[in-house]
Amino acid sequence: MNARMLRELELAEVAALYGLAATVAPAVEARSPAVSAVEAPPTAASDVASLSWVQLREAARDCRACVLCKARKQAVFGVGAEQGPWMFVGEGPGADEDEQGEPFVGQAGKLLDGMLAAAGLARGRDVYIANVVKCRPPGNRTPTLEEAAACAPFLDRQIDLVAPKIIVALGKTAATRLLGAEPGSLGALRGKVHRYRGTPLVVTYHPAYLLRTLVDKAKAWEDLLFARRTLQGLRNDPIATAPAST
Ligand code: URA
Repeated sequence: MNARMLRELELAEVAALYGLAATVAPAVEARSPAVSAVEAPPTAASDVASLSWVQLREAARDCRACVLCKARKQAVFGVGAEQGPWMFVGEGPGADEDEQGEPFVGQAGKLLDGMLAAAGLARGRDVYIANVVKCRPPGNRTPTLEEAAACAPFLDRQIDLVAPKIIVALGKTAATRLLGAEPGSLGALRGKVHRYRGTPLVVTYHPAYLLRTLVDKAKAWEDLLFARRTLQGLRNDPIATAPAST
């Protein structure tokens, strides 16, 4: 490999990261899929509404509905108890998740698993974990509203299939996606039972935020206990309607 080829390859990495793959060197084209994200139609809810777990996972793996597909190593679908009763929704994969193909496997994931364990829960046994977007935003930036919307059919179908008794939205991106655009500050959303398509939903801090803001860990713990009480209340009185705030 000569110096020019090396330079082209380096450029290719950067170009792919910024969604410019089609405009640079032939070395990049050889590695680019035939259909670009721009050409691919957005995934319609009706396209995935009847898919099984296996079909949905395959559809997410092959999805090119937004630019995030360009720099991903793989789509990070979701993990855990496919029949709930808990469902946690995060923002999007980071570098570790992009590498390993599973949500929340990095430092934030360790914190989340620790909190789940303290509440007597475990991913895989009681909890299904998914993200608003299935592909890593370059540089771990926040996904745009358009990217969240492009991925919405996948998350919605996951929610349909899990049919959780309670959803926990981790951080503002998940809260915004599930409760509507600009729902207000996270603080104002905590401590209430919201609903997403009829399912009780509580909002708490994102574990990555908690790693930076240790003082709010106690609040996140309160939120988890609040969610557990909400679920227990529903179990004790399944026809009761939990107090809805929105
Ligand atoms: N942050 C998220 O929101 N999701 C992950 O899967 C990992 C980190």
